[in-house]
Formats: sequence, C-alpha cells, structure tokens
Amino acid sequence: MSEENNFESLPLRSELVENLAALEYRQMTVVQQKALPLILQGRDVVARAKTGSGKTAAFALGMLNTVDSSQLHTHALVLCPTRELANQVTEEIRSLARRIANVRVLTLCGGTPTGPQVGSLERGVHIVVGTPGRTLKHLTKGTLKVQSIKTVVLDEADRMMDMGFSDEIEAILNYLPRKRQTLLFSATYPDGIAKISGRVQEDPVHLDVTQMESSAEIEEHWSLVRLDQRLHCLLDALEDMAGTLNIVFCNTKVDCAEITSYLRSANVAALTIHGDLEQHERTETLIRFSNQSATVLVATDVAARGLDIGKVDAVFNFELPTQPEVYLHRIGRTGRAGRKGHAISLVTHNERRRLEDIQSEFPHTDIQEYELRRVAEPSSALIPTMTTIEISGGRRNKLRPGDFLGAITASKEISGSAVGKINVLEKNTFVAVDKKVHDQAVRILNSAPIKGKSYRARSIT
Ligand code: ADP
Ligand code: MG
Repeated sequence: MSEENNFESLPLRSELVENLAALEYRQMTVVQQKALPLILQGRDVVARAKTGSGKTAAFALGMLNTVDSSQLHTHALVLCPTRELANQVTEEIRSLARRIANVRVLTLCGGTPTGPQVGSLERGVHIVVGTPGRTLKHLTKGTLKVQSIKTVVLDEADRMMDMGFSDEIEAILNYLPRKRQTLLFSATYPDGIAKISGRVQEDPVHLDVTQMESSAEIEEHWSLVRLDQRLHCLLDALEDMAGTLNIVFCNTKVDCAEITSYLRSANVAALTIHGDLEQHERTETLIRFSNQSATVLVATDVAARGLDIGKVDAVFNFELPTQPEVYLHRIGRTGRAGRKGHAISLVTHNERRRLEDIQSEFPHTDIQEYELRRVAEPSSALIPTMTTIEISGGRRNKLRPGDFLGAITASKEISGSAVGKINVLEKNTFVAVDKKVHDQAVRILNSAPIKGKSYRARSIT
C-alpha cells in the first residue's frame, strides 16, 4: 500500500495519530481512506461498506478530531441498532480517545435504568452513543441537550430500517440543529436508505467501497484425523496456522474443558467460554482474550453466540458442526479488516458426511484438504505478548483509561507503547501491559495513587 494510506497524511490532532500508532492501526482501511478526508472537511457522507471494514474509526476519528473536552456539552450523537453494537461503538471511541484528556462518551440504551443515564447527562457528556428508542426518550424528556451537537451518525442504517426505527430516527433528527454534519453508514443500500438520506442530509457525498475492499478473504482447509489423535492434531494445526487471536470451536461443553486443559498442559495460553460461566467471568475472559493476554479461545457455538470479540485471525474446528450454516457462522469470525483469515476443520472418517453437506449446501465454499504435520518451528503467535492487571477501581470512582495510562507511564519507567487495551468497568479495570514490564506496572499501580486515591492492583493469570 502507498504512503497515502497512512493516518499521518490527514490533518488529525497529534494525540490521535500517536494513539493510532499505539493501537497498531498502521494503514487506513478502504472506507477510512475514502470517507475520513471528507468527514474531516465537514461534509455529509453516505458510505456503503462491508462489516468489519473499519467504519467506526472512520466516524469516531472525525468527531474526536474536533472534540473540545473543556466544553462539557454534547458534540456528537451516534445511533446504532442494538445495545451490543452501541456498547461496541462506545468502546472503540473510548479506545481511540485514550490520549485526549477527559473525553466523556456515554451509551444510552434500553434495558438499563434511566436514572444513572440522566445523572451522567447532567454532569456533561461529549459523545452520546445510543439506540433510537432510548435516545428519543431522553430527547422528549429534555434530559439530552442537543443545541451543541455538530455531528450525527446513523451507524448500520440498513439494520435500523429493518428493525423499524425509521420514524424514531426522523423524530430524533428533528430535535437536532439544522446546521450539522450527518453521516450515514450501511452495509447494504436498500431504497429506504436513499429516502432517509434525502430527508436528513445536505448535499451528501455517496461512497460505495464494497467493490474496492479487499474483502475479508478466508482460506478454508480440512484435515482427516483419527479420533484418538484429535487433540494432538489440534495442537499441530495451532502451531502451524495460529495468528494473534484464534478461536477453537467444539460441539460440547465437555470437549471445551478437555481441549482447554490439554492446550494449557502444552503451554498454550488458552481460555474457555462456556454456558456455565458467571457474567463477570465471561466479561473477564473476553477482555483477556481481546487484549491479547491469551491467544486461543475455546468455545461452543452457544457460548460464542452474540459475543462481540470482533474478528479473529484463525478459526479451528475441533469438530465440524452437524448443521452446515453453523460452519459459516464459525468461519465468519475470521478475516479482519482486509487481512486474510484462516479456517481449518478436523474431520474423522465417520464425519466426512458433514463436510459433504457443507459443500453441497454452500457450493461457493472452497474447502481444500490440508495435510497436517508437526512444524519444526511452532508459530510464535501462540505466545501472548501481553498480560492483564486488574485494578480495584472503575467508572464509579470516576476513573478513565487515560488515568491508568498516565499513572503507569508517569515515572517514565514504562513507556506508553508497553500499555495495551484498557477496559474500565463499573467497579474495576483491566489493563493489558507488555509481559516484560508486568512486575513494574503492578508495583507502580499499587504504590502510586490515581487521582488522589490508592487502589489494589493484581495480575490475572
Ligand atoms: P465495521 O463497523 O465496518 O463493521 P469496525 O469499525 O467494527 O467495522 O472495525 C472492525 C475491526 O477492525 C475492529 O476490531 C477495529 O478495531 C479494526 N480496525 C479498524 N480500523 C483499523 C485500521 N485502520 N487498522 C487496523 N485495524 C482496524
Ligand atoms: Mg460497525
């Protein structure tokens, strides 16, 4: 790719450019290359791009570039179809905003009491991410003030239409100042999108990057294995093909447990997610997986449903599912932002039928036979680079990602580049740090107060 694909080529504030480097966003994705320059110019944009193409950062960087955190009013509003997506967008914005001090991002969704939301709104919020229903409720009650909103985003507009939110969306937009930037993102472009664009946007630029995206290609393989060799073959496959984030799918909880303990005994940093975990255990597991403190997640289909772990580098089917469409769901987890994904399925002689069913039901799938072998040099990707530290303070202590980053790097002993993802939850926080600085980081966090108060820090293994 050319120089032009670097974020440095755009007029972005230095905190954002530095943070993008720390997050390892080295090149812009296609939708970012096309949309971001226009967004930064303040134009209205309708962008059609596939899932996983990096749309969130495209609009988030636009709003963060002009956010003035000293002005405690709402600068921007993002509407999303579901609570999960709204939470995901909020997380991405917070992560991109990490180096700009005091940016407040709030999610407004149903299913949670309005009281705390009203409290947060009264204290002041810069960016609101909400579902249409709950956002409209706050507008009609007057608890969400809109006079300073400069940018509004309709994310996954096609899905919001499908879910019947058209009227709510128009009602919301009627509350907003006329002079504003309106951005519309969608994976498909049904008629309803043109209609709503015509009503709510001004002279929008239309972008369709679905053809240009190096689509998340997936290389699919299968290998014939003996039943009693299956675990062993899984390890061979992992050592051969693992990337940074890998999922092993299995069909039963019992297999999940057996695979996880086998992989751990082979020194693979594997975590598991199954139906019996408490909510907080699920959350902790997902955080440790996505912040790269573990390299393999072992999951059943049920446990993986609705998980927002984003895209992974490779999917390993310990066993093929009995329903062909489940296979497609599984492998769809791979192929990140233009990078090629890998999927490999272990198949016993008796299970050949399942493979044939997949191939006949989905003729476009091209699953090549692959001969597994012991590789001389196991993939170094299986060794995690990061480790997670849990700190006994969170949002209820008014702590934000920047506070932790600041505390860890204050003495200059540890550089910002050794700090990974920071997940601030209600009562506690998880910070990923490079393994090399782990002991120092725990010591610093346990000795230096954060915003005048001391917290406990412990490593999670
Ligand atoms: P979309 O909304 O288009 O479906 P997302 O915005 O959720 O896609 O992005 C998909 C994934 O790609 C996320 O994990 C995000 O962090 C990552 N990502 C986005 N832009 C870049 C980039 N320029 N470089 C590397 N990763 C990126
Ligand atoms: Mg999205």
